Amino acid sequence: MLEVHDLTVRYGNIEALRDVSLRVDEGDVVALIGANGAGKTTTLRAISGLVRPYRGSIRYRGQELTRLSAERVTAMGIAHVPEGRAIFANLSVQENLLLATYARRDRSRVQEDLDLVYSLLPRLAERRRQNAGTLSGGEQQMLAIGRALMSRAQVMLLDEPSMGLAPVLVVEIFRLLQEINRQGTTLLLVEQNARMALQIARRAYVLEAGRIVLAGAAREVASDPAVRDAYLGAA
Ligand code: ATP
Repeated sequence: MLEVHDLTVRYGNIEALRDVSLRVDEGDVVALIGANGAGKTTTLRAISGLVRPYRGSIRYRGQELTRLSAERVTAMGIAHVPEGRAIFANLSVQENLLLATYARRDRSRVQEDLDLVYSLLPRLAERRRQNAGTLSGGEQQMLAIGRALMSRAQVMLLDEPSMGLAPVLVVEIFRLLQEINRQGTTLLLVEQNARMALQIARRAYVLEAGRIVLAGAAREVASDPAVRDAYLGAA
């Protein structure tokens, strides 16, 4: 469904990614794990058209994305849920959700989708008229995910969805992601919380200093001694 081949990204003289290749199949949950600065965010930004690759190709359902604008990529059904969430603080929860639907042609189904998002995320339903800026961190993360659902994304690129959340909320977010996947959305998940990410992923990639150093079934990656030492606290 999504194929990244030999992707190299440079910021000036800094090579953030070097020959990164990865594949996300339809219906899959794929985790991309790695330390700070490994290039995880850059990988997602390249896929969603926010940074231009220096070299390499990114294909979605056989179509080359590399030269497309971020708007075009979104319109093709790929939603980026960025780190820091990027919600509109002065708009209500519902206004934030509705903003994600403006590019859509099938306006008639907006209410249906709102109902779906509110059923998956009852906390947002209770707070639909509240200013998004006054939501807790976990609720803002749910709103960012809700917005991707409202855009009817077929693929969600999630950048550290558990960042800064209390453990009980982390569990809630991962459950939500599993449910979203069960309902048919493909997920590419960037996480520093490798333990949780590897629990819900089917396949995983480990990124170190801009290169993929390990790839495979999530269960195998989780039992790799080097991964256990570096990312799973050797538990
Ligand atoms: P983190 O987990 O800390 O968010 P990451 O794995 O997502 O890290 P990236 O944000 O992709 O890593 O960064 C990869 C490398 O590229 C880092 O060395 C970073 O400093 C560098 N980098 C990222 N964005 C820019 C930029 N706009 N200009 C210059 N260098 C950048």
